[in-house]
Amino acid sequence: MLAMRTLRSIAALEQFECLGSACEDTCCKGWGMQLTAETVERYRTHAPELLDAITSGEAQHIMRRDAQTDHCVKLEAGWCGIHRAYGTDFLGDACNFFPRSTRSLGDDVVMSASLSCPEVVRLALWHENPVALGDAREQRVPYGLKDYLPESLDTQQAYAVHRIFIDYMLREDLTAEDALMHSAISADALASIAMTDWIEALPFYLRTASGRVPQPEVQPSDAFNLLNMLCVLIALSKPTSRPRLDHTLMDMYSALAVHFDAQQLSIMISEQSSASYANLYDRWERYGNQALQPMLKRWCAMQYSVQLFPYAGHGSNARERLNLIAVRYAITRLGLMCLMMHYPDGTLPPQEAQIRVVQSIARFMDHLSDPTTLLSMVHHLGWMHNARLRGMLQGGLRIQLPDALCAI
Ligand code: SF4
Repeated sequence: MLAMRTLRSIAALEQFECLGSACEDTCCKGWGMQLTAETVERYRTHAPELLDAITSGEAQHIMRRDAQTDHCVKLEAGWCGIHRAYGTDFLGDACNFFPRSTRSLGDDVVMSASLSCPEVVRLALWHENPVALGDAREQRVPYGLKDYLPESLDTQQAYAVHRIFIDYMLREDLTAEDALMHSAISADALASIAMTDWIEALPFYLRTASGRVPQPEVQPSDAFNLLNMLCVLIALSKPTSRPRLDHTLMDMYSALAVHFDAQQLSIMISEQSSASYANLYDRWERYGNQALQPMLKRWCAMQYSVQLFPYAGHGSNARERLNLIAVRYAITRLGLMCLMMHYPDGTLPPQEAQIRVVQSIARFMDHLSDPTTLLSMVHHLGWMHNARLRGMLQGGLRIQLPDALCAI
């Protein structure tokens, strides 16, 4: 059956080569790389000596990590020892495919890539069209491949809808914030019509969405609640070493004049916080926003691609998925804004620093297996409503902070 399928992958992946020992944040560190029962069985039958490298934790079968280094026990000088000695057939799906994200859409298998990998960030966010699809180099598919094709669409129709959203995001005359807002409004409209009408209706909904965007409802604590949300999710997750994310967070605390109180599960704002954010925002508007828009729009297009939007990803419908993308976008943009505090003369941060911010946040957010807490925070903060979503995305804060953040 698989031989009949078309395997396609995004352009960024076709250029991808794992950096191995040169990687600044190897995926073999700090993660429970999962194995399916098929790989465990292969070890049992053909390489029982590898069974010792398996344990359980985040899943029933994961690669064991060294207690001292937190690296996979099979990592040898930055490269995978199983890959070297046994070949890719002996890699579990997570190890073989990362940073690829593989989804089935009817007869097609579509491979995209996760911004959790620094090399993918480098390839995807600074290249013209990282999400253009071509024939895939990789021919293996994961064991548990899930089909996201909606019942009422065929592969071409489903893919066309996905592509309309991506093309809209990459339009040169729109900002990422506008395209996200228009996509949210259009996702709402799609929910009220039959899926078979989506291809015809979606271009019209997107084209006319600007007329239905409400006035933004800005709340002074929005930016701080974004950081609070990230910190709370980290505090509730399994402790592990994340030096690059810690670096990003330290920059954010410092730039916003806040600290995180782990006991109260909340960031604490200071007397300087409001003015600090106003300064940051001002600098962002003057030096960062326009220059980084192409990169930020590719970031959004990569999220649409990796989630095969509107069909997959966290959230129970297209609108919830879009809102989660928008919130992740705003957190990442805030990280970049805070990075700019190191460049008071208005120069842009070097690409490697931008990559660190984008990738460290993506690596954490991509591994949230349960979106319940995140979704409840998004609902609680009112960001499912268009006026609040627009206010949050707009990011402007020139008014006094309240005494306390919204309780989460
Ligand atoms: S994070 Fe990416 S570049 Fe780094 S080791 Fe993993 S696959 Fe290779």
